[in-house]
Amino acid sequence: MNNNFKSGFVTIIGRPNVGKSTLMNHLIGQKIAITSNKPQTTRNRIQTVYTDMEKGQIVFVDTPGIHKAKNKLGEYMVNVAEKTLNEVDVVLWLVEPSNFIGAGEQHIIEKLQRVNTPVILIINKVDTVDEKEKILEYIDTYRKVYDFAEIVPLSALRGQNTEILTDLIFKYLPYGPQFYDEDTITDQPERQICAELVREKLLTCLDKEIPHGTAVEVTKFSERDDGIIDLEVTIYCEKDSHKGIIIGKKGAMLKKIASAARTDCEEFLGCRVNLQCWVKVKADWRDNEFMLNNFGFKQQPNR
Ligand code: GDP
Ligand code: MG
Repeated sequence: MNNNFKSGFVTIIGRPNVGKSTLMNHLIGQKIAITSNKPQTTRNRIQTVYTDMEKGQIVFVDTPGIHKAKNKLGEYMVNVAEKTLNEVDVVLWLVEPSNFIGAGEQHIIEKLQRVNTPVILIINKVDTVDEKEKILEYIDTYRKVYDFAEIVPLSALRGQNTEILTDLIFKYLPYGPQFYDEDTITDQPERQICAELVREKLLTCLDKEIPHGTAVEVTKFSERDDGIIDLEVTIYCEKDSHKGIIIGKKGAMLKKIASAARTDCEEFLGCRVNLQCWVKVKADWRDNEFMLNNFGFKQQPNR
C-alpha cells in the first residue's frame, strides 16, 4: 500500500474550440475525446484515467463547453457542465492566449465564483504567440479577475509545458484510493468511442449544419478469431438531402469518412478493423435503400 497515493476528479472547462479535448488526449497519450475545429463536438462526459503508481490517479471528466443554451440539448449540456464544477476536486479552465475577456469568459467566472473547487487556469495555444512577453500580460489580465490556484501557459497541441500539469493537479488532490485498474484509460465502452470517432469524421468532412443533425450508433462490434474487429455503424441524419451529402457522389464521401474513421479506430483498438457505415434518415430512411445498395453499401436488415 502506498500511503502517499492521491486520487480525485478533474474537469476541463472552457469555450468550444479552446483545446480541451486536445489537452486531455495529450495527457492520456491516446485519442479518446474527439477533436475538431468546429465547436460543440463533445456531447458526453468522457472519463479518462491517468495513473502514476507513485503519485496517484487522476480521473478526467471532459465537459461540453459552458455557454448559453440555445436548445434542449444545449440546456442539458450546460447543466451537466455546471454540476460537474461542484463535484470535482480540481477545475482546469482553458482559455485562448489573449487579453480579451469576453462575455463567455465572464459567464464562466460567475459560475466559478459560486464554487470552492480550486481552479487551475490554463492559457492554451501559446505556440501561436510570437512575443513571449505577451504571455505574461495574459497571465496578469486573468490574475486580476479571479483567484486562481495556479496559472499555466502551455500548448496542448505541441505538448509545450504540459509535463508540469499533472504534478500541479496532484498538489490539489486528496489522499485516496485507486479507483481504476492501472491499465484503464477510460470507462467509456470501446464501441462508444468508435462511434465518437466516426462522428468526428462527419464533423471534419462535412459542412457544419449537417453533422450537428447526425447521430452515430454502433450496431455491430465483434471480434473474429484472427483478431480483426467487425464494426458496423449507422449514421442517422435528419433529411434525405443530408443523407445524399453524407454518402456523396458514387458514395465517395461516405468512403472518405469511413476510411478516415477506420484508421482512427484501428489506432485506438490496436488491431485491424473492418468498418461498414450505413446512413439512415431517421423518419423515412428506407426510401433510399436501393441507392445505398447501388453504391456498394449494403443496407442493414430491418431491426
Ligand atoms: P475543444 O472544443 O475545447 O475540445 O477543442 P479541441 O481540442 O477540439 O481543439 C480545437 C482546435 O484547436 C483543434 O483544431 C486543435 O487542433 C486546436 N488546438 C488545440 N490546442 C492547441 C494548441 O495548443 N495550439 C494550437 N495552435 N492549436 C490547438
Ligand atoms: Mg472537445
